[in-house]
Amino acid sequence: MDPYPKPLKDLIAQLKRLPGVGEKTATRLALFILADRENFAGDLAQALTSVKDAIRLCSVCYNLADMPTCSICQDINRDRSVICVVEEPSDVLALESAHAYKGLYHVLHGLISPMNGIGPQDIRLPELMERLSKLQDGEVIVATNPSVEGEGTFHLIARLIEEKHYPVRVSRIASGIPMGGEVKYMDQVTLASALRYRRNVKDR
Ligand SMILES: [Zn+2]
Repeated sequence: MDPYPKPLKDLIAQLKRLPGVGEKTATRLALFILADRENFAGDLAQALTSVKDAIRLCSVCYNLADMPTCSICQDINRDRSVICVVEEPSDVLALESAHAYKGLYHVLHGLISPMNGIGPQDIRLPELMERLSKLQDGEVIVATNPSVEGEGTFHLIARLIEEKHYPVRVSRIASGIPMGGEVKYMDQVTLASALRYRRNVKDR
């Protein structure tokens, strides 16, 4: 016999669709929502319905925004000659939390993946090239993941910029041994990458 009534089971089923949420967590969350402390259920329902209406993509960089352009593109203190290319809006959040970058972004919303039939036209790559065509003496930092798709997307961007003779420098974020990591515990791919992207001590 199932101990839960159908509406509760429905809520658990929906919560389970969230990334990283299994049966136990979904049940715990559903019971928490049901307890309805300080109208939490009502506030959550309101936030859930309004987020889809209120959030759009920035018309410049395709980051998440609640205005025609996002807060980063609107910030007059950002360096407009540097564009950091990322896969998803969550990458922008991660990079911003590092407080180490003061340029603009471009969110591709995916990576090129010929195996899965995803080509340049399926992500925001044409829009990136359009932006770069107007950039004078700037820099593009490609910060896609060091995966097959991330590397493939980086190489395509670099090739397109070269073919079109845009006066733009292309760089790739470093990948290799993380801070606090140990050489002896690194896998072969990471070690190969760390050696390939080594830097001269004078560049520090
Ligand atoms: Zn923007």
